[in-house]
Amino acid sequence: MHEFSVISSIVDLIKDEMGKHDNLNCVKEVVLEVGELTFLGREALQFGFKALTESSSKINSDGLKIVLVAASVKCKQCQYEGPMKLDNTEEYHVSIPIFACPSCDGAIDVVKGKECVVRNLVLDLEDD
Ligand SMILES: [Zn+2]
Repeated sequence: MHEFSVISSIVDLIKDEMGKHDNLNCVKEVVLEVGELTFLGREALQFGFKALTESSSKINSDGLKIVLVAASVKCKQCQYEGPMKLDNTEEYHVSIPIFACPSCDGAIDVVKGKECVVRNLVLDLEDD
C-alpha cells in the first residue's frame, strides 16, 4: 500500500521534530497538505496514521488533518497558468487530469498538486 509508506515517512519526520522539544507534552494536530496529483487516498492516509501513532502517548492518533491541494499547471508555450483540463469519464465516475495545456495542447509543467508535506504541527508544550 503506497499510502502506508508515505505516511510512515511523515510520522518519522514528526518524530524528528518532536525530538527538538524537551518540554513536549504531545502533538495535538498534524496538518498535511496532499496534492491532487499524488492520488493518495485520504482514508488510507488516516488509517495508516492511526495505526502508526496509536501506541505513542505523545501523538494524538486522531489529530491528522488533510488539506487537499488542487493541481495547477503552467504551459511552456502560451503562458497559460491555472487548473488542469479534466477528462470526465462517465464510465468510471472519475475525473482524469490531462497532461496538456487546456488552451493550446502544448507541454505543461506542474506547479502545484504533487506535494505531500506537513504544513503545520500543533504542539502541546509544557511551560516552565
Ligand atoms: Zn498553452
